[in-house]
This record gives sequence, C-alpha cells and structure tokens, in this order.
Amino acid sequence: MQKHKYIFVVGGVMSGVGKGIASSSLALLLESRGFKVSPIKIDPYLNVDAGTMNPTEHGEVFVLDSGLETDQDMGSYERFLGRPLNPENYMTGGLIYKTIIDRERALGYQGKCVEPVPHIPEEVIRRIRSAGKRDRSDITIIEIGGTLGEYQSVMFLEAARLLKISNPKDVLFVLVSYLPVPGKLGEMKTKPTQYAVRTMNSYGVQPDIIIARASVPLDKRRKEKIAASSGMKEEQVISAPDVESVYDVPLNFEADHLTDTVMKILQLKTRKRTPLLGTWKSFIRKTVRTRGSVRIGIVGKYFSTGDFVLADSYLSVIEGVKYAAYHAGKKPVIEWLAAEEFEGKKADIVRLRKFDGIIVPGGFGKRGIEGKLRVIEYARKHKIPYFGLCYGMQLMVVEYAKNVLGWKDAQTTEIDRTTKHPVIDVMIEQKKKLAEGNYGGSMRLGSYPAYLKSGTVARAAYKAEMVHERHRHRYEVNPAYVAEIEKAGLVFSGISPDKKLMEIAELPRTKHPFFLGTQFHPEFTARPLESHPLFDAFIKACLRRDRRGRQAAVKKR
Ligand code: GLN
Repeated sequence: MQKHKYIFVVGGVMSGVGKGIASSSLALLLESRGFKVSPIKIDPYLNVDAGTMNPTEHGEVFVLDSGLETDQDMGSYERFLGRPLNPENYMTGGLIYKTIIDRERALGYQGKCVEPVPHIPEEVIRRIRSAGKRDRSDITIIEIGGTLGEYQSVMFLEAARLLKISNPKDVLFVLVSYLPVPGKLGEMKTKPTQYAVRTMNSYGVQPDIIIARASVPLDKRRKEKIAASSGMKEEQVISAPDVESVYDVPLNFEADHLTDTVMKILQLKTRKRTPLLGTWKSFIRKTVRTRGSVRIGIVGKYFSTGDFVLADSYLSVIEGVKYAAYHAGKKPVIEWLAAEEFEGKKADIVRLRKFDGIIVPGGFGKRGIEGKLRVIEYARKHKIPYFGLCYGMQLMVVEYAKNVLGWKDAQTTEIDRTTKHPVIDVMIEQKKKLAEGNYGGSMRLGSYPAYLKSGTVARAAYKAEMVHERHRHRYEVNPAYVAEIEKAGLVFSGISPDKKLMEIAELPRTKHPFFLGTQFHPEFTARPLESHPLFDAFIKACLRRDRRGRQAAVKKR
C-alpha cells in the first residue's frame, strides 16, 4: 500500500504571493492523477478562528458546512477541488494553544511540564494526521500562512521538520517565493529567493520545489541560478508568472511538469488519470470565449484599506458572479459601489441604471445602511435584478416594510434597538450571549436546511424542494411580522423545517424580473465547475434586462 504523503507549502519574500492558489492548484493536479488530497490551512495567528476579524484586515471569512469560520484560502481549496472541507482542514495558532492549555487544565498531560516544543508541534502533527484520516486521503497538502522568518510560524515549521524526520521519504516542501523585476533595473532578481531558502534552512528544512512567482515567466538562466544556489535541480524550480485568471494556474504548473516532479520526489506510483483536468480546461475555455458581457454592481462597505481596493472582502461573491456569467457565455464586468455614496439628497442614484444587476452582499453594523436601502428601493422600483446576500436580504425586508407597508421606522435591531417595527431581530438564544459580551462564535453558523415553496423563483432555480446552505449571522426576519409582510406581496420562499426562520425572500416574477434575497450565503458553495443555481438565475435575469435595454436603445435610434 502507498504510504501517506505530506506536502508543506510555505511562503518566502513577502505575503500575498499566492500560496493558497498554488496549494489549491497542486491539490487539483494530484487529484487529476487519481490521488485523494486533503488540503489544510494553518493560520499562525492567535485568533482561535477567523470569525472576529474585520474583512479589511483579513479578507473574507469563509464559513464551512460545520460552521467553522476560516480563512479565504479554504474557499479556494473548496472551489478548486469542488467539495466541502471539514473543520480538521483548518487550524490557527490560537486553536492549537487553546487546545493544549485546556488539556493541561484538565490534567491531560499527567503532571508533565507542558512546553512549546514538543507539545505544540505534536498537537499540530496530530491534527494534520486526523484531517488525512477523516478525508481518507492519500496526500495532505499543508499550507502554512504568513512568510518565512516570522516568529509566529516557527512552531509550525518545527512540526513540519519533525514529520519529515519521522517520515523522510513521505514529506515534501514547497517554497512559494517571489522574484521582483525592479523597474529601474529591468532585470529579474533572484537574491530575495536565495535568502528565503537560507531562512528556511535555518529552521532545519530544505525546499524540494520552488514555485517562482513573478510578473513574467522565469528564463532558463534564473532557473539554473536558483537551482544552483539552493542545492536543487532545475526541474525543481517552477515558473509561475502572473496570470489573467487564477484558474489558469493549474495548467501553467502542469506545463512546467510540477505534478511529475512532485510524484517523482515522493515516489508516487502513477494512477489512472481522472477527467478532472479536461473538465477544468473546458471551464477555462468558457472564460475566454465569452460573447458579450454582464454588468453587475456590488454595493458594500469593506472596500478600502488606504488607497487599495480590497476585493478580497467579497471574494466568494465575486467568484459566484463570475461562474454564473461564464456558464451563461458572458464576460462578468463587476463594479464596486461604496454604499455611502448613495446617501444624502445629492447622491447620484440614477447611475444604477447602467447595471444589468445589483448585489448587496453580507455586512455588519450601521455604516452605509441608508445608502444600501436606497439602492434596494431603486432596484425594486426600476425593476433592476437584485440579489441580496444575508444583510442584503435583511435590508430588502426592511426596505419593503418601510416603503411598501409604510412602517417608516422599520429597522433591524442591529441598527435601532428601540424601533416599533423590529422586522429584523436577534434570535432569542443569541440575545443572552451578546448580553454577556460573548461575540466569538455567537452567530448562526454553518449549513442549515431550508424548504422551498413551490411556484417560486427560488424553487424554479434550485429545482429542489429542500436545500442546505451556509449561514453566518445573528439576526433573522422577525416571525411576528411575517404574515403582514407576505400579505403586502413579499414572499418568503425558503423557510426552515420548523417554519420559524425565513431563509429566502422574493418578489414574484409577475412583479419583478428578479428581486430575491437569502438569509444564507450561497456564494460559499458556488464552484467553477458547478455554478450556484441562485447566481445562475440572477445572471439569467440580468441578461434578460440587458437584452431589453439594448432593444430599447435600438428603437430610440
Ligand atoms: N449583520 C447581519 C447579522 O448579523 C448580517 C450578517 C451577514 O451579512 N453575514 O445578522
């Protein structure tokens, strides 16, 4: 029997070099060769999970079926591999430390002195092994977050080193590095990568593969130079130039023989190839052979850190839009709109007209609420397809209560606790937790079932009576108002099995081309090879609008 193999992926030179995409791509390539792969993300920081972090600081919080709040790289793994991952596939420094300290308090170490080494690496290795077992995988790919040289990753590199010592032939190290081409010099520099290798060596580990990220492909000379200075063969240095789309990365790796080299070093025997890579290629063909475009405005608030626009905060939403657009043969054109720009009398709301569809994604807190409500009102009245995700659904209900039912003070209690019409309110179980100041893990998290009413837009999109979707929120549609809101025309087309929780709200097709919001986050399960049914339905509605818009323009001429 083939022994279990472990591949550690670490980053050198700087953060943001694409370790997550490199790990996801390698996982995909090995699966295409018939191996089952478990990807693991380790975030060395002390947060126990990613749930309490601000998206502008950390990027999107990606929620698993289990409800664990994780890093956005987990989203990449799920999207590339096309399947849900387990909580064992994610760990943070905080979680490891907490587990050890809790165990110590429970006398789990039987009177021994509990020390960073060996107890931290031992716990890390235990978790890595249990993830592989749960997945029944052949290979585990472990991405260690952060950059080589940071204090916080030392214990994780030590875990990797110990695993290599006990399984010398079964552990492989990948260094994802960066080669700058400074403008003034116009020449690609290898020195930072050489330093990264040296830093890695100082932890007692040696890379087996270097993925050389750069703006352009690596030439033969650079490959030779890196290989020679790092004690490697040229084939172990993989060129990874910037690409148009992250989905091209697996194909570039394959072209540079990454899979063959990894298999050779780990002495993996060739298995029957699966059709995965072929299917992947046909998806990529769709992304380049689009005819026409679909224009989507995303109205949110987590956009700016300094001068940079951080599309990262809504990564899964963007991907969800892209897949649906590509599968419809259209190029997605996504524009960011800061909610606050739609506030005040002078706001240029009419510019929303140029969009084929509008999304208000998830969010928290007060800032930008007025703007979002105005956008939703405009989309409803002007029949622009609207898709609300979580907060975007709650605000859709608030807007309807205010402007259709005429309850001017209607609000979510997240914004106004004293309103007479709390149409969105916190769930009773959660109220206690919040009163105690316990915010971590206090939301409805993870996958829950919903029943879909027949004859609705949601039911037609899913073509199913029951669905499971992932949640991350504290507030819900207040059941006390459901009957009145429905009487006024808004339909709750998805509800929890006990009928207490409203999961989807929509206007019937006869009243609006697409006006639908979900309490859950469909974006977390949108996949490149399998677009999400609600995103598909939304994009189709957008395209119908686009066609109508064009016909109107032709008539005018
Ligand atoms: N702030 C809202 C809530 O907590 C919505 C959360 C979200 O959009 N993820 O219920």
